[in-house]
Amino acid sequence: MNSSKATVPVALGLGANLGDPAATFATARRLLVAGGLQQERLAAIIRTAPVDCVPGTPDFCNSALVGDWPGTARELLVLCQDIERQCGRPARHSQRESRLLDLDILLFGELCIAEPDLVVPHPRLRARYFALAPLAELAGSWRIPPDLISVADALAALPAT
Ligand code: AMP
Repeated sequence: MNSSKATVPVALGLGANLGDPAATFATARRLLVAGGLQQERLAAIIRTAPVDCVPGTPDFCNSALVGDWPGTARELLVLCQDIERQCGRPARHSQRESRLLDLDILLFGELCIAEPDLVVPHPRLRARYFALAPLAELAGSWRIPPDLISVADALAALPAT
């Protein structure tokens, strides 16, 4: 891909509760870079209890990755879904089941997208500690549209659990 093309800062959320999440996240990072992501940075992994999952679901490992993307949000979604499949996640899956890799677009610059299969900012970003906490490590001052609250302030505003 042409590295002189204009890029957009993007934030991705990573989750896994099967396999070796650290190795899977490293593979996802490598594949994202191979797909065109530049200047990427990966947050430390945190371990969190499952939310909205079937009883008995193992704890999740979560992280976040920021970088500069030289394409559209839809091109990034296609790449993320391809990487999920390459890392062993079935194309058809329930949101409530265990997974080898979940790769979500959290933020695409300060753009809002509301399409049937692509919603940005990610609809659950502001409600989820496991998405906000790793992202705050990398980009606490990033402003979440439409009201442009910072990632750090959104994290601080979460109810105590
Ligand atoms: P999940 O099971 O959490 O990986 O959700 C996958 C579904 O969410 C796919 O049908 C995507 O098209 C849709 N989706 C909507 N918005 C996003 C987003 N910001 N990032 C990733 N997937 C998204």
